[in-house]
Amino acid sequence: MSPQSYAKQREIVIQWLNTILPDLRLPTEASDEELRACLIDGTVLCRILNRLSPSSPNEESSENSSVSQPENVKRFLATMDELGIPRFEVSDLEKGSMKTVVYCLLSLKLHFISSGEELSTLSTITKAESTDDDGSSPGSLQQFFGEEMRNAFPGLKLQCAMHNQVISEPSPAVLKHVGHKFHEVFQLKQACYADLPVTKNLEMMESNSLEDAPTQALLNVVYGILDETAETMNGKIPHHVACLLRKAVQEMGRRLSTQADHLRTQNNLYRAHEEKHRSKIKKLEALVSVSRKETKHVTVEPQQIRTQRKKNISWFSASTLLKCFRPTSQTANLILEEQEVEKQELMKLVRENEKNILELAAMRQELDIVGMVHKFCSLEMEAEAKAAIAILQLKIKELECLLADSNNKVKELEASFESKCQSWTMKEKIYQSFIDFQFEAMQKLRSSSEAIKQEVLETQKRYSFEFNHLESKLKAVTDAAGNYHEVLKENHKLFSELQDLKGNIRIYCQIRLFLPGQTEKLSTIENISENGQLVIANPSKPGKDGQRSFKFNKVFGPDATQGEVFADIQPFVKSVVDGYNVCIFAYGQTGSGKTYTMTGPTGATEEEWGVNYLVLNHLFKVSQDRKSNTVYEVAVQMVEIYNEQVRDLLSSDVGITTITQPNGLAVPEACMHPVISTFDVLDLMDIGFKNRAVSATALNTRSSRSHNIVTVHVRGRNVKTGTVLYGNLHLIDLAGSERVDRSEVTGHRLREAQHKNKSLSSLGDVIFALAKKSPHVPYRNSKLTQVLQSSLGSQVKTIMLVQLNPDATSFSESMSTLKFAE
Ligand code: ADP
Ligand code: MG
Repeated sequence: MSPQSYAKQREIVIQWLNTILPDLRLPTEASDEELRACLIDGTVLCRILNRLSPSSPNEESSENSSVSQPENVKRFLATMDELGIPRFEVSDLEKGSMKTVVYCLLSLKLHFISSGEELSTLSTITKAESTDDDGSSPGSLQQFFGEEMRNAFPGLKLQCAMHNQVISEPSPAVLKHVGHKFHEVFQLKQACYADLPVTKNLEMMESNSLEDAPTQALLNVVYGILDETAETMNGKIPHHVACLLRKAVQEMGRRLSTQADHLRTQNNLYRAHEEKHRSKIKKLEALVSVSRKETKHVTVEPQQIRTQRKKNISWFSASTLLKCFRPTSQTANLILEEQEVEKQELMKLVRENEKNILELAAMRQELDIVGMVHKFCSLEMEAEAKAAIAILQLKIKELECLLADSNNKVKELEASFESKCQSWTMKEKIYQSFIDFQFEAMQKLRSSSEAIKQEVLETQKRYSFEFNHLESKLKAVTDAAGNYHEVLKENHKLFSELQDLKGNIRIYCQIRLFLPGQTEKLSTIENISENGQLVIANPSKPGKDGQRSFKFNKVFGPDATQGEVFADIQPFVKSVVDGYNVCIFAYGQTGSGKTYTMTGPTGATEEEWGVNYLVLNHLFKVSQDRKSNTVYEVAVQMVEIYNEQVRDLLSSDVGITTITQPNGLAVPEACMHPVISTFDVLDLMDIGFKNRAVSATALNTRSSRSHNIVTVHVRGRNVKTGTVLYGNLHLIDLAGSERVDRSEVTGHRLREAQHKNKSLSSLGDVIFALAKKSPHVPYRNSKLTQVLQSSLGSQVKTIMLVQLNPDATSFSESMSTLKFAE
């Protein structure tokens, strides 16, 4: 709406208000704000209602100024709602746009004009005002309303506005209800109701056929009566006219309200359908465009028709207006001609209108078909939607199953989690107790370590004290050790003096036991005494005469063991370590046990070891005991004297060696083997015995005719003083002492016997000379005495082990042996 047209409408409303409420006196050109100021308290609005409907029971209260402004306005708006007039909002009246207010008042004006309600009120007003009027045309209401309408709707014809409800909705139902065809209504309206007489009106009233009368006819009756009474009765309306008027108006009101309700219902239905279709159309995108086009087509065409119709009606209204204008006599012919033309045109328009109505019906049918199609489509869509819903429900079920499974799994997991939690809690408790235990143990350890530390400190103190004490003691011991050597020397001296007192030559006698193979066990041994006395009995001379007594240092009986024999030799071994020379001889006839005593049997056990091994064993032990003071070196030589020739038994090529006495060595050319243990000596002895030349004789092997000499050299060096001591020990297994008869052997054997006898007698001579302490000792008479020269002296300790065969057959040999030893 343009501002100019709005201003025009406002002007019309103000004029109307001034007409209804003359005391208002609003300027025609009043602005929106001035109009608002006039209307805002609602009093004016209520007065308008009261003037338009004086029978309203609210009349008194409505005009009561004590009622609040919102109440007045609300009451007015409620009345508007009841009348179906587009209303405005309270806020619009207070501060918003006044356009809605102006439009509402315009609608109210039109409503009352069209319904005729306003007529009674306005007729009174008109009459009351006619006296004050300038007398322009006071008797013509049609003129008044025509002017009003023309002013209100400049673009429309008055008749269109007056018959709006009838013409704008020419539905078949309405037409039927009215009972007349549209053009008949129109024709009737064209008739001049002013020509109807009052009697006719009375007939109409009495016939009571107002129900079947068309609305326009009723209106015309009312208009005619009003017009007539206004002119003829000079303002006084008779009772019957008033009743008829009231009835006609009531019926019209009823019909109008019915129509309004019907239209409202239809409108609602249409809107509901439209909404439904719109929702369907939205869903069906493909059909939307088509349906929209068609809907547009359907809606546009009726509008065009309506527009066209309105144009026609406007034109018609204008002509009617002209007709109502009561033309002058000068223009009467011209107007009549124009009326004729207009009538024809009107007829044409009516036909066109009917055609348009038919087209509209066809379009409505088309719309119904489209609606059906839409419905079908929507049904299809619904079916699809149902199928989709079914699928979705299936999926929902599946999902529910999955959800149930998941829930079960969650429960299982929760259960396992719970159990794990419990086990972890148990483990935690165990670990905690373990940690507590460890902690306690650590505390104990700490306390014990503290105690140990204290103890260690105390021990350290005690040790330091004891070390100090020991240091003082050690000094005393060191001092004592200094004296020890002197004491030791003195001891040696005393020992050697004791040995001297005992004699440097010791003669022990050992009697061999009877061998297992000897059957005739007739012994020559009569008695053995503890003091070394031995009594020999001649088996051929029983009794005292046959007995002979000998005295030795000691006599070992047949039961004496190797160890017992060695026990008496042991002190001499110690002398060797002290730097003395010692000779141990085994003397006796062949088979008397010399080799057994000196060496032991072949493959001897430790108990059967002979003097050689036991002596060396003891020698190593003593040297080991003394190693802190003296370091000893021990070496062994082994030679054989046979036929006055010295042979080295430990050399790879056993040959005759020379005899010299440099550095105290009797046989320097013979191999000297250092030994550090008894086992070394055993190995060497084995080699020596293997190398010993053996040959059978009538009595025994060659061993019985050769002297076997094992020499042990001991060299000791004092660690502190560096002084060196040297001693040697000769272990001699002599050849058999039996005298060989010259007639028995000749040649080589004879020479053997001669050499053996010579060497043994030389040895006897030397020992005899030594024992007698003779100034001359005949060493040089034999090789044996030569070899033993350095070991057979006044300072040399000599042990003669005299071996006896107890058998009676050996009596003479035993006697000669004993005489030799004596
Ligand atoms: P010899 O060397 O004087 O010729 P043997 O030492 O060879 O004599 O001894 C001759 C035999 O007598 C050997 O068989 C030897 O085992 C044995 N015999 C010597 N003395 C004893 C003894 N004390 N105990 C056991 N048997 C011995
Ligand atoms: Mg022997």
